[in-house]
Amino acid sequence: MPDQSSVFRNYIHFFNDLKMLYDRMDQRYDAVAEAYGFQCSGCTDNCCLTRFFHHTLIEFLYLRRGFADLDENIQNKIRSQATAVNKKVLQAEKNGKTPRVMCPLNADGLCLLYNYRPMICRLHGISHEFRHPVRGRMPGPGCHEFEANCGDHSYIEFNRTPFYQQMAQLERRVRETSGIRDRFKKTVAQMLADDLEKMI
Ligand code: SF4
Repeated sequence: MPDQSSVFRNYIHFFNDLKMLYDRMDQRYDAVAEAYGFQCSGCTDNCCLTRFFHHTLIEFLYLRRGFADLDENIQNKIRSQATAVNKKVLQAEKNGKTPRVMCPLNADGLCLLYNYRPMICRLHGISHEFRHPVRGRMPGPGCHEFEANCGDHSYIEFNRTPFYQQMAQLERRVRETSGIRDRFKKTVAQMLADDLEKMI
C-alpha cells in the first residue's frame, strides 16, 4: 500500500484545480452575502451540526491532505472525536432520530481545516438555485439565520450549477486517473475516522 505522501503527490495538479474552483465559489458566495448584508456569526442552528454527505474523491483527498499537515496530537484528537461522532450518528439513526452531532473539525466554532473544507460547507447558508437539465430551475432556501435576517430581501442570484458541473468534471478526471470506481458518500467524520490507506 502506498504511503500518504505518494498518494497526495499523484493528485497535486488536481488539488490545484480544486483550489481554484473553491476560490471561485468563495468569491461568488462572499459577493452575494455582502450584497444581502449577511454575515455568518455562528448560531444554534449551526451548519456544522448538520449531517452533510460529500460525494467526491477529490474533496476527500484534499481534506486528508490538510489533515496530514496537522500536529499529530491534534490529528489523534480529531480521529477519536470522529469515531465518537460516527457512533452517535449511528445510534441516533437506530433510534429513528435525525442526527445532530457537531463535526469533529469544529473547535469552538472554528473549522480546523477551513481552507480544506468541502464544497457544501462553502456554499451553505445563502439562498440559491440549481438549473436541472430536465426539471429546470430549482430554488433552495438559505439557512435558518439567513432566512431570519435576509428572508424579506429580494433574491440575489446565487446559481450553484456551474460549481457542481465544474466539480463533476474535475471528479471525472480524478476517477480516470486513479482507476477508483467505487461510489463515494461520506460525512466529514467518516472521512477522518480511518487511516487513509484503508480508505482508498
Ligand atoms: S468541515 Fe469545517 S465547515 Fe464543514 S462542517 Fe466540519 S467544521 Fe463545519
